[in-house]
Amino acid sequence: MTTPLSFSSLPLSPAILDNLGTLDYQAMTPIQAQSLPLILAGQDLIAQAKTGSGKTAAFGLGIVHKLDATAYRIQALVLCPTRELSEQVANELRRLARAIGNIKVLTLCGGTPIRPQIESLKFGAHIIVGTPGRLMDHIERDSVDFSGLNTLVLDEADRMLDMGFYDDVAKVVGACPGIRQTLLFSATYADDIRKASARFLNKPAEVKVESVH
Ligand code: ADP
Ligand code: MG
Repeated sequence: MTTPLSFSSLPLSPAILDNLGTLDYQAMTPIQAQSLPLILAGQDLIAQAKTGSGKTAAFGLGIVHKLDATAYRIQALVLCPTRELSEQVANELRRLARAIGNIKVLTLCGGTPIRPQIESLKFGAHIIVGTPGRLMDHIERDSVDFSGLNTLVLDEADRMLDMGFYDDVAKVVGACPGIRQTLLFSATYADDIRKASARFLNKPAEVKVESVH
C-alpha cells in the first residue's frame, strides 16, 4: 500500500527499499517526508528538526542513492560535532548502504591516533564521517582526497558552531569540490546557521518540522 509517507513514493531503487523494510523503517518520519524528495532531486538543503526525528536516514538515503559502489573513492563526507555522533552516523550509514554492496564507511575523529587513520585511508573508502578538527588535520597532511566527492553533509550544524568549529568547517568545505550537493541539518536555526548556510550552500531549499514523529 502506498501512503504519502511511504518510502516507496520516492525514486529509490528496489534494493534500497527492500533494505528499509528489513530495517523495519515502515514509513517516513515528517522530516524525511519533507526533505527526501528535495535531497533525491539533488538540491542543497537546510533541514531543521528536533533530535530523534530521523535526520540521519534523510541524508543517508541521499548519499546511498547516489553512491557508486564500484568506484572506490570518497564520494560523501559527513561532518559531525563529536566522535560519538560520528560513530552513530557511520553505523546508520552502514545499515543503509548494505542495500547497494560492500560499502566502506570510515570515521575520522580526534581523540585517537592519526597514523592508523592515514593507513586506513590508503585502502580507500566510499564515505567519510568525522569531526572538523581531525578532518582539517588530514587535509593539511594531504592524506584525504576529496576530488571525487559529490555530497557534503553538515550534521548537527548548530552544535558544531556552538563548539567553535566554524573556521575548521570552512577549511574542510574549502577542500571539497565546488560542484557538489551540500546538506545542512540542525535542531535550531540561529543567525550563525544562516551565515554558515549562505557561505557553504548553493541556493538551499529549507524544510522545518516542529514536532517529533
Ligand atoms: P536525529 O538525527 O534526527 O536526532 P536519528 O537519525 O538519530 O535522529 O534517528 C533516531 C532513530 O530513529 C534512530 O534509531 C533511527 O534508526 C530511527 N529511524 C529513523 N528513521 C526511521 C523510520 N523512517 N522508521 C523507523 N525508525 C526510524
Ligand atoms: Mg542526528
